[in-house]
Amino acid sequence: MRFYISADIEGICGVVSREHTRPGGFEYEAARDWMTQSTIAVCEAAREAGATELVVSDSHGNGQNIRMEALPDYVQLVRSWPRPLGMMQGIEIGPFDGCFLVGYHAGGSNPGGVLSHTMSSEFIHEIRLNGTVASEAVISAALAGAYGVPVLMVASDDVGVAEMRSELGDHLAAATLKQAYGSYSALNPSLSVALARLRMATTEAVALAGKVEPYRIDGPVELEIDLRTRFVAEWLSYLPAVERRGAYTIRYRAVDILAVSRFLMFLAFARMATSP
Ligand SMILES: [Zn+2]
Repeated sequence: MRFYISADIEGICGVVSREHTRPGGFEYEAARDWMTQSTIAVCEAAREAGATELVVSDSHGNGQNIRMEALPDYVQLVRSWPRPLGMMQGIEIGPFDGCFLVGYHAGGSNPGGVLSHTMSSEFIHEIRLNGTVASEAVISAALAGAYGVPVLMVASDDVGVAEMRSELGDHLAAATLKQAYGSYSALNPSLSVALARLRMATTEAVALAGKVEPYRIDGPVELEIDLRTRFVAEWLSYLPAVERRGAYTIRYRAVDILAVSRFLMFLAFARMATSP
């Protein structure tokens, strides 16, 4: 059996501040270790449950948070950006029996959750697919679905887990890694308890392989983005494929979810490339 892990940092036990998420920030190096240990806990539990190979996507920030020297030799690691499948790059080298979303977080328009956002807290407020609010977890699940891979496990704070269950359905394992008090505060178990929860959820998830349908969003897909600044909406509307729906909102009709991902990656990197 082969499994795929998309790893983010905001939902990891102990991570509560923006400083934790950025190189150079207070305790960032520690947060990398917590993310690395969390990823390894999932890999080891999957291996013990029968996995022969795993692909991990480092899907946060610069895509170079996980300490690759610590990973076991049955794991391959996707690092750095840009890449057309974003947080799910590597899913295309399947087949995989399932995927796990680890350290994910609630979406930008959820009033609760630690460090909740969708793709970028600086320039995106909300993303909708075919009129329904879509978190990063939904976009990742739909990209996995395009390759026939079901999401079998999510790991986040309690708000993120509840949101992902409501979006993706109850037929998946989940690990709650902290209780959110708000955007920058949480009640955290000890790291060893969080790692034990990840191992337990992974064991449950591997047992679900073959029993869960992939989450699919068939094309064409209508992508709407509420941006945080008028200028980005204005600037994107210069593209003939983009329609401006309001001062802050643009719409793009994508042929499929893979084109949605390419558009979002283009947006993220065009924005980064034009930022001072
Ligand atoms: Zn992140």
